Amino acid sequence: MKHWQSYNYIHLFMAKQSHLHCSFCGRSRDEVKILIAGQEGHICENCVEHAQEIIAQELNIRTESGNTNSNYKLSIRKPAEIKKFLDDYIIGQDEAKKILSVAVYNHYKRIGQKQSADDIEIEKSNIIMVGETGTGKTLLAKTIAKMLNVPFAIVDATVFTEAGYVGEDVESMLTRLLQNCNYDVTAAERGIVYVDEIDKIARKGDNPSITRDVSGEGVQQGLLKMLEGTEVLVPPQGGRKHPEQKMIKVDTKNILFICGGAFDGVDRIIARRINTNAIGFNVNKEQQELQRKNLLQFVNAQDLKSFGLIPELLGRLPVVTHLNPLDAETLRNILTEPKNSLIKQYNRLFELEGIKLVIEEEVLDFMVNKALEYKLGARGLRSICEGVLTDAMFELPGTDQTELTVTLNYAESMFSKSKLNLLKVA
Ligand code: ADP
Repeated sequence: MKHWQSYNYIHLFMAKQSHLHCSFCGRSRDEVKILIAGQEGHICENCVEHAQEIIAQELNIRTESGNTNSNYKLSIRKPAEIKKFLDDYIIGQDEAKKILSVAVYNHYKRIGQKQSADDIEIEKSNIIMVGETGTGKTLLAKTIAKMLNVPFAIVDATVFTEAGYVGEDVESMLTRLLQNCNYDVTAAERGIVYVDEIDKIARKGDNPSITRDVSGEGVQQGLLKMLEGTEVLVPPQGGRKHPEQKMIKVDTKNILFICGGAFDGVDRIIARRINTNAIGFNVNKEQQELQRKNLLQFVNAQDLKSFGLIPELLGRLPVVTHLNPLDAETLRNILTEPKNSLIKQYNRLFELEGIKLVIEEEVLDFMVNKALEYKLGARGLRSICEGVLTDAMFELPGTDQTELTVTLNYAESMFSKSKLNLLKVA
C-alpha cells in the first residue's frame, strides 16, 4: 500500500480522453470503468483484479512450498522394512515387492545424498511393472507412497496425446500431483507418479514413420524429459496451457515415476526370446496361465522394446519387474489377510451398526470361485461382496438384529439376484 501512496503521480484517472487505453489488456477508456495511470501507462480495474488473483496464487504457492509445517515429512525406511510394510497390504508378489523396496530406497537415498567430490551421480530408479490388470500394481505404488508419506498421483497414459493434439499434455500428470498435495510444490517434487497402462502407448507396428503416431510414440517422446528430470511449467488447474494462466514450475528430477501395464502378448515375445515353444500356448487355459506366469518373471527391457516401447523411454525406466497372476489361494488371502482387507472392512461396517458379521468359510471360497469364473480378478471381489451383502446393509440398520451369519445358501441366493450374475463371460 505504501508503495502505491508514494507514487504521487498515480491517480484515479477518470477523465474522458478516449484515446487512452489499458497497457495490459489494451481495452480503451470507454470499455472500462476505471483506468489508473502509472508513470508510463495505465491499468484498468479488470487487470488489477486479475493481477491480484495471480499474486494471491503465487504467495500461496510459495508459502505452501516453504512451509515447514508441510504435511509431507518424508519417512524413509530400509528396504527390508519397506517390504515388511508392503506385506501388510499386498498379498504375494514377493519379487516385485523386493525389487520395488530396493529401487524406492535407492531413489530416496539419492535425493538425500550430498554432491560428492568424485562426481559419482546416482541415477534415478524409475520403475516399470508388468502384470495383468488387477494384480496389485497400483496398490503397490499407492502403498509405497503412503508409507513414505509423499504426494502421490495415478495417471492413465492413454489420455495423453502429443502436445498440440486433442487430449491431455503429459504435464497434466504433474497438475494431478500438485492438486493431490494442495500445491505443496516442495513435497510434490519428491512425490510418486503412477503411470497406468503404459503398454497402451506402445508403438504400433514396426514402421512408425508412415503415419503420425499421435498417441503412441509421440507420447513416449513427450515423457522422456519428464521421467529423466526437468523443470516443467505446470498449469495449476490442468487443461491446455493458455497465455493468461499462471504456471507453477515443478522440477521432476526427484519425482519417482512408476509405470505399469498388462503388456498383453509380451509372454509370446519372452517365449520367443528364451526359445520356449510358444505353440504350447493354445493348449488349455490353465496351462496357458501357468506358462504365462512362468514367462513373465523373465521379462526384461528387451521384451518391452519388442512390444513397442522406445529404447529411450526404457532407458529412463531402469527397474523392470513383474507381477504374478492371482490364483485362487491368493484371492482367498486377499479377502481376509491385508490390514484393511475387504472382509475386515465389512466387519467394521456392520460393527458400527452394532451387528456382529459372521461369514462362513465356504462363502469365502464361493466368492473366490466367482471372481475366477467371471474373470473379475481381485478388483471383482469387492463387487461380489457388495452383491452378497447389500441387501443386509440396506435392511438391518435400524432393526434390533445384532448378528448376521452369511451362509453359503444365503450368499448364493444374494449373488444370483445381483447384476453381477449377468456378467458371466462365455
Ligand atoms: P492393477 O493396478 O494391477 O490393475 P490394482 O492394484 O488396482 O491392480 O488392484 C485392484 C484391487 O485388487 C486393489 O485395490 C486391491 O484391493 C486388490 N488387489 C490386487 N492385487 C492384490 C494383492 N496382491 N494383494 C492385495 N490386494 C490386491
